[in-house]
Amino acid sequence: MVRYLITGGAGFIGSHLAERLLHHRGQVHVIDDLSTGAIRNIEHLKSLKGFGYTIDDIRNAPVLAELVDGADVVVHLAAAVGVQLIVESPVRTIETNVAGTEAVLTAAAKKRKKVIIASTSEVYGKSAQVPFRETSDLVLGATTYGRWSYACSKAIDEFLALAYWREKKLPVVIVRLFNTVGPRQVGHYGMVVPRFVKQALAGGPITVYGDGKQTRCFCDVADVVEAVERLAGEDRAVGEIFNIGSGEEVSVEDLARRVAAKVDPRIPLKYVPYDEAYAVGFEDMRRRVPDVSKVRALIGWTPRTPLDQILDRVIEYHRAEG
Ligand code: UDP
Repeated sequence: MVRYLITGGAGFIGSHLAERLLHHRGQVHVIDDLSTGAIRNIEHLKSLKGFGYTIDDIRNAPVLAELVDGADVVVHLAAAVGVQLIVESPVRTIETNVAGTEAVLTAAAKKRKKVIIASTSEVYGKSAQVPFRETSDLVLGATTYGRWSYACSKAIDEFLALAYWREKKLPVVIVRLFNTVGPRQVGHYGMVVPRFVKQALAGGPITVYGDGKQTRCFCDVADVVEAVERLAGEDRAVGEIFNIGSGEEVSVEDLARRVAAKVDPRIPLKYVPYDEAYAVGFEDMRRRVPDVSKVRALIGWTPRTPLDQILDRVIEYHRAEG
């Protein structure tokens, strides 16, 4: 039986991963400071055999050391995420992401425990070389634009993890998660799908930022956690970076229309300039599309869930939540 420690395990992706690993008879311990995660995300797991949790900051070194001791694999998901949160709280973003990952790698290195580091498609920045490959250049904007601090903090995490692998032979795997969606994701930090769904269920309008022609690919969280679990168990993945995401590209405007069509076609769209939505001079990427041939070649993973089905599930979830 594999024992997993999931940092940020009470968050959206972490709670889905915990559920999957427990279902596959893994033992799962979650550490989360509940800054963006929530106890209700793991409430249904509390009574399951093999599950445990600690509410604390991963920078609490003695606590983290003990939890790492009791694990075979650490999946590091704890981070400040969400473009809106990042633009509003850059200090928190940079400190959480850099110091948090450093704490996890330091603790894991002492006991030589495997670490899966969650990175993000945000690291590709505003590169126009789509689809993005793991070897592609990262193209970030000026440091005066707070948004890029997120990409930069996660890029540092990647550099540090790879350095631990090369210098200290600490087994690490880096997963660059593209836009991930599903039940339990909240819209407070900017994530577009839960925001659109909640706006639609409230009768609109749906707020489309910019001209709405920017594109994203949305991957179902169930597909994403499948890839994470399989890569965690794959020796050939060590020391490598993998894109995890969907190839179904959709414009934000089209996404808004599709959500409206499913809830009530009369719901209006409202176009909001970026400066108003985020901050003056905000930069967005026009297209974000992953090349997932590397993960496909290694473990045969491809995303399974079409966007239509993802949207139906998210709408159903928010309806049930009221
Ligand atoms: N977006 C939007 N309306 C919203 C929230 C987001 O049009 O209410 C846009 C946002 O500007 C971006 C896209 O949707 O172009 C995806 O945003 P999200 O924050 O979900 O993820 P990102 O891809 O930016 O990390």
